[in-house]
Amino acid sequence: MRDGPIKKVVIAGGGTAGWMTAAAMAKLMGKNLDITLVESDAIATIGVGEATIPTLVFFNRLLDIKEPEFLAATQGTYKLGIQFENWRDIGEDYMHAFGTTGKDCWACGFQHFWMKGRELGVSSGFGDYCLERRAAESLKFGHLPSNGLNYAFHIDASLYAGFLRKFSEKYGAKRLEGKIDKVVTDTETGFIESLTLTSGEVVEGDFFIDCTGMRALLIEQALHAGFESWSHWLPCDSAIAVQTNTVREPVPYTRSIARESGWQWRIPLQHRVGNGLVYCSRYLDDASARAMLLENVEGETLTEPLSIKFHAGRRRKQWFKNCLAVGLSSGFLEPLESTSIHLIQQNIVRFLRMFPAAGISQAEVDEFNRQADFDIERIRDFIILHYKVTDRADSAFWRHCRAMEIPETLKNKVDIFEKTGHVYREGNELFVDSWQQVMLGQGLEPQRYHPLVDTMTERELVDFLQHIKSNVDRTVAGLPEHNSYLASYIKPA
Ligand code: FAD
Repeated sequence: MRDGPIKKVVIAGGGTAGWMTAAAMAKLMGKNLDITLVESDAIATIGVGEATIPTLVFFNRLLDIKEPEFLAATQGTYKLGIQFENWRDIGEDYMHAFGTTGKDCWACGFQHFWMKGRELGVSSGFGDYCLERRAAESLKFGHLPSNGLNYAFHIDASLYAGFLRKFSEKYGAKRLEGKIDKVVTDTETGFIESLTLTSGEVVEGDFFIDCTGMRALLIEQALHAGFESWSHWLPCDSAIAVQTNTVREPVPYTRSIARESGWQWRIPLQHRVGNGLVYCSRYLDDASARAMLLENVEGETLTEPLSIKFHAGRRRKQWFKNCLAVGLSSGFLEPLESTSIHLIQQNIVRFLRMFPAAGISQAEVDEFNRQADFDIERIRDFIILHYKVTDRADSAFWRHCRAMEIPETLKNKVDIFEKTGHVYREGNELFVDSWQQVMLGQGLEPQRYHPLVDTMTERELVDFLQHIKSNVDRTVAGLPEHNSYLASYIKPA
């Protein structure tokens, strides 16, 4: 326990995590807080992190950031899902689209109706019943009135940080340029008292937010909160990223293309494309990875390929003493499902909900860490699923993934789905409908469907499926083209 009100918050680091934290704190609590962000121009940000999930729409709304302004400032595009290519097997594709597929009933999910329809030869592809999937593949997008498209964005990471910096400063956050040299802690409590910059300047605070990226200067190097490795489940440990010019209209989805020892991303922005290869260094050396990436990009490269090393896992305590880890300092999951920015946002919003204005309560710190652990563990399981459930056996990497042990929590989900076709949502788990899409997409076939489906006649089932599909088709037909919509939305006539 540490008594004392929290009035001065110091944010260490100004990447996506630092500026998202500063923006939210300044806008929502800035009237009562003194907020200082320290960052060093001499230490580059990670420079990637450009695909998001729909929760960012909520973050923008919370901060009252207008979407046209946001998209213009970040050269953003809309994203309706992720196209997974070659993941189940070479030449097989599916999309994990945001939003729901078909229509559930009180007893079971839509997949049960779809499975029986498939047995009878009357179902089309699972994704044909999902509005977001059909809109994405038709290159359409628009804001629909109620229950519209569930969407996210592709954004330029450095433009986003710059945009949030201006926003934060407008609401009173102060930026301090300087390199943190030392983290000073209280000898009795171990709480952080101040940061000393290489200039000698001392930055004192009541609470510190560690956004220093993988260095984790405060939470780990100073406080030794500990790190739990998940590399036995997520063996990729390297990435190489490069930007290319745009040679075709940006599509409203991210592409994830499985390769021999990892996978490649393509993130289309208005002004350029973000590309990268995530790989496992045990199976692919850095020079070969670089060559593989450069062979598989379209257009001309705009940047030198950037090499990044990482380690999958999480900080044992994301909130420890008077320090909260946000962003890469809190742990790392590879960007397969674009979840890191979401986890940043989760920690920020959770912290603001629990904001310890009157002093830190250990019970609340424990609750924070319990919730944060739950969030990252469920996402971890979802990512592992893509590697584990596959027919690929064409390389040592994929054979390793097929054979590896997986967490019990994931094993349970896979077993239940395989035997019954059900997916049970735990608590506030982020992904819901996504599990069915990815399990079926990766080739996991349930052994049976729910008996309730048999209470429908074949005619009723055909009508039910047809009705959903026609609604999807009709809605998609009425949507504008993604690119023309984007252009008119950002710059209204
Ligand atoms: P960083 O960007 O590393 O920022 C660290 C900051 O700390 C910098 O401002 C630096 O100057 C400062 N700093 C460090 N040390 C000091 C010091 N001593 N003194 C002063 N300042 C210091 N996430 C997604 O949501 N979607 C994606 O598509 C996605 N793709 C990714 C692809 C790859 C290959 C990787 C590795 C990550 C990806 N991520 C993605 C994750 C995403 O990039 C990060 O979550 C996000 O950028 C936040 O990074 P950060 O702000 O924590 O750290």
